[in-house]
Amino acid sequence: MKPFGYLRATTVQEAAQALVEHPGARCLGGGTNLVDLMKLGVERPDFLVEVNRLPLDTVAERPDGSLSVGATVRNSDLAAHPLVRDRYPALSQALLAGASGQLRNAATTGGNLLQRTRCPYFQDVSKPCNKRAPGSGCGARDGTHRDHAVLGHSDHCVATHPSDMAVALAALDARVELYGTEGARSVPVAEFHRLPGDHPERDTEIRAGELITGVVLPAATASLPSAYRKARDRASYAFALAAVAAVLRLSDDGTVAQVGLAFGALAHRPWRATRAEDALRGGPATPDAFAHAVDLELQEARPLRDNGYKVGLARGLALDVLTRLAAPART
Ligand SMILES: Cc1cc2nc3c(=O)[nH]c(=O)nc-3n(C[C@H](O)[C@H](O)[C@H](O)COP(=O)(O)OP(=O)(O)OC[C@H]3O[C@@H](n4cnc5c(N)ncnc54)[C@H](O)[C@@H]3O)c2cc1C
Ligand code: SF4
Repeated sequence: MKPFGYLRATTVQEAAQALVEHPGARCLGGGTNLVDLMKLGVERPDFLVEVNRLPLDTVAERPDGSLSVGATVRNSDLAAHPLVRDRYPALSQALLAGASGQLRNAATTGGNLLQRTRCPYFQDVSKPCNKRAPGSGCGARDGTHRDHAVLGHSDHCVATHPSDMAVALAALDARVELYGTEGARSVPVAEFHRLPGDHPERDTEIRAGELITGVVLPAATASLPSAYRKARDRASYAFALAAVAAVLRLSDDGTVAQVGLAFGALAHRPWRATRAEDALRGGPATPDAFAHAVDLELQEARPLRDNGYKVGLARGLALDVLTRLAAPART
């Protein structure tokens, strides 16, 4: 592993300053992704800014009812938090569907959002990969791409974003909070990760010198139904082949009053299904309406040679989740 400098930052300002002073520095959260990539030679930072001593380790309800989650809150703690389990079950379910208990004990909220793709060509420095080495080509497009994107991919990259948590946060309308030397700003989770386009080397909208300070979830009550479902090769300890997070609130007359729908493992970012949402909002919450809306969204899919199965898999998951949320008494 390449030698690197190290700072254990104690204030957000100190961390941001260090990121500016050391271009190409990386923050170190739980290290469950970054350290692996450093061992493989994929990441070669000169400097690490450890964020674990920053005062960003709490989950707190704000006066307006929204929920603030610090960047260093561990995935296990977030999944188990009573307010998350009660008001945002999709988030708790998504976190518990990810990785293993030991990994979730180490993994942080900020690190989970910024984890890199699991594309095997990205992780193998002997292979071409436009994300790791811009201009070198994409090994996956004509190679092994069973796990890769069916939505929003480009000629330059067909990778998926691997986070389960981010998919639930996108459906729940959460925002990412960022801090840099120019101050604080926030970005919707659904817009934080980028589609690959011509620049797959840029995963997110984070700017040089910024760090993630937390995530904010909009106010919700325990009566707002939400759920997460993930299909994978093994029952645990496996990344998603397809995943769905949904929020669905019905009016007294049974029509859809509020809906949020996001797919995971289908694209370079959590895929917010806005066409499906628009088709559902204000209409009947019936199986036919769900099928019509989900098909409308998935018409966008452009499967590769070996991953067309993802479209049907995602469709089935979405219809199952929406149907269950519409009929909570029967689940
Ligand atoms: C075997 C295995 C299986 C896994 N399975 C799943 C799964 O099924 N689902 C899933 O979602 N995930 C899975 N993961 C991924 C795991 O969830 C991530 O590794 C973890 O969430 C990353 O968090 P971390 O705190 O360890 O990040 P780190 O490894 O510390 O950092 C990851 C990236 O985030 C950056 N970073 C960290 N914190 C900040 C911050 N505050 N501001 C700015 N940048 C920051 C780092 O610089 C780095 O680029 C798996 C991992 C492994 C090893
Ligand atoms: S899909 Fe993206 S990450 Fe994978 S090899 Fe192609 S460019 Fe690299």
